[in-house]
Amino acid sequence: MTLQLSTELLSLRTRHPFIIARGGQSDYRTVMVKIRDGDGNEGWGEAAATRYYGETLETVQAALLTYAPLLGDDPHQLDAIERRLETALHGNAAARVAISTALHDLVGKRLGVPLWQYWGLDPAAAPRSTFTIGMDTPEILRQKVQEAAEYPILKVKLGGPNDLALLQTIRDATAKELRVDANCGWTPVHAVRMLPVLEEFGVTVLEQPVAADDLEGLAHIHRHARIPLIADESCVTSADISRLVGRVDGINIKLAKCGSLREALRMIAIARAHQMTVMVGCMIESSLGITAAAHFTPLVDIVDLDGAALLAQDPFRGAGIPGGQVTLPTAPGLGVTRR
Ligand code: MG
Repeated sequence: MTLQLSTELLSLRTRHPFIIARGGQSDYRTVMVKIRDGDGNEGWGEAAATRYYGETLETVQAALLTYAPLLGDDPHQLDAIERRLETALHGNAAARVAISTALHDLVGKRLGVPLWQYWGLDPAAAPRSTFTIGMDTPEILRQKVQEAAEYPILKVKLGGPNDLALLQTIRDATAKELRVDANCGWTPVHAVRMLPVLEEFGVTVLEQPVAADDLEGLAHIHRHARIPLIADESCVTSADISRLVGRVDGINIKLAKCGSLREALRMIAIARAHQMTVMVGCMIESSLGITAAAHFTPLVDIVDLDGAALLAQDPFRGAGIPGGQVTLPTAPGLGVTRR
């Protein structure tokens, strides 16, 4: 029987408005994708559209209509299906990865193994996840640091006009390890000027200080930096990695950017071949989308999978980051259930 795709709209709300260098909001809508086989098995995935990467709820829904008739009847043909989708309509990574995730979930359920086991991974090897503190007033920042008490590593969003005050407020509120993401908000000159400041504040990782296409800017900062420099917006798919070699220390993989779980694994392999650090990040999404990325965390160095932990209410139960520790489900497939 041909695999059947259906969708459901998810409304998500973050506990605080999630503000980064490009702005922010509290209300997010994602699309849940369900793929059913002829035996009554169903796999789930989530599409978290990001306007920055050219996707909206509407483009995701339109892309899914294009992809739905191309699934065929054998979910185990993951490579062929993923290539078929990309050939039919390239881009639309969030829509494609929702299908990729649902197929992997379905395959795991049919075989009776959790995804990490299907990939031959050891869940105990997953690094601890950061928890992100978005931009806010000093008062709310202090409150957020308190609310993040259980998480041992905080990721601080910079790239705005109040970076120093913001960093100072957070450092005064906690002695925890801090990592910084400037989300393209700095110039190379400003970033180099910020490096000693970051070091003084005990920051251990710097993510995407300058514009996505400013590879020379990244290289300039890399020459001056003593802390690892990670490319996020500059690294969308595996095709971006070769030009980042020597210009940054590592890459941040996100499923909503790269468009498939198999592509995420390719990115890890390519980055490793170049001795690069591998990070996995996320969008604001429920535990459904987060769990898909969590299953390959045993392969990475840096984990930032707090998308569901930032929500006021999570419609699903799946992988979690209690105390920062990535916990992977042991049920077949993704191991995600509805709350
Ligand atoms: Mg980032």
